[in-house]
Amino acid sequence: MKILQKGFNYSQDGPGNRLVYHLQGCNFKCKWCSNPESIPPCSDKCKVQSVDEIVDEAKRSRMMFFEGGGVTFTGGEPTVQFEELKEVLKRLKEADIHTAIETNGSHPKLSELSEYIDFFIMDVKCPDNDIHKKYVGHSNETTLRNLELLTKERRQLLVRIPLINNVNTNADDFVRLFSSLDMSDTQVEILPYHEYGKCKWVEEYEIVDGFVSEETLREFTDKLKPIVNLIKT
Ligand code: SF4
Repeated sequence: MKILQKGFNYSQDGPGNRLVYHLQGCNFKCKWCSNPESIPPCSDKCKVQSVDEIVDEAKRSRMMFFEGGGVTFTGGEPTVQFEELKEVLKRLKEADIHTAIETNGSHPKLSELSEYIDFFIMDVKCPDNDIHKKYVGHSNETTLRNLELLTKERRQLLVRIPLINNVNTNADDFVRLFSSLDMSDTQVEILPYHEYGKCKWVEEYEIVDGFVSEETLREFTDKLKPIVNLIKT
């Protein structure tokens, strides 16, 4: 598998202390992406590790998986390497290791991974498909279909919303979307815009005035609070 970077972190990408693999390649091109170097399918920075090597590494790291930890695959977009991802998740479950992925939800066969994943993190960037296509370069249709499937299956799911001024701050769009789903087992986290990755963009960085004011953030969270389980960032 092509891995841009890996390392341990605590409770940011799933429960407990986790070994996190950032896989190379993404089928989206979000204009605010903080890891633009992860978007191309290959990079001179990425390293290749076989499924066997990853499973062995995870088994050797068991002692580090405290407080419900395990292994997380994020990106880029981990499902871009779908077959290898499916195999490695299956093997980790066979080894009784807790598994998580962070995904943009756009893979049409995402549900095939469900039985091997303990914890899903899915980014939902914008319910409005025209805005989604404009800022992400990809339709949101499959993401929303997968969101519906995962909530129906009552999977352990954390939905992340990167909140960007002048892009997706219309809370009513999210209220309509979440009201149409059974969100009882789903948590939602709002990630206000930042520019930590701006300096890494080789192409022109197109987001201007993306920071969300305190007032907008409060209005947004106030509208979502009554219908979803919001967690603090
Ligand atoms: S889905 Fe994530 S990794 Fe892919 S372009 Fe968007 S922010 Fe970057």
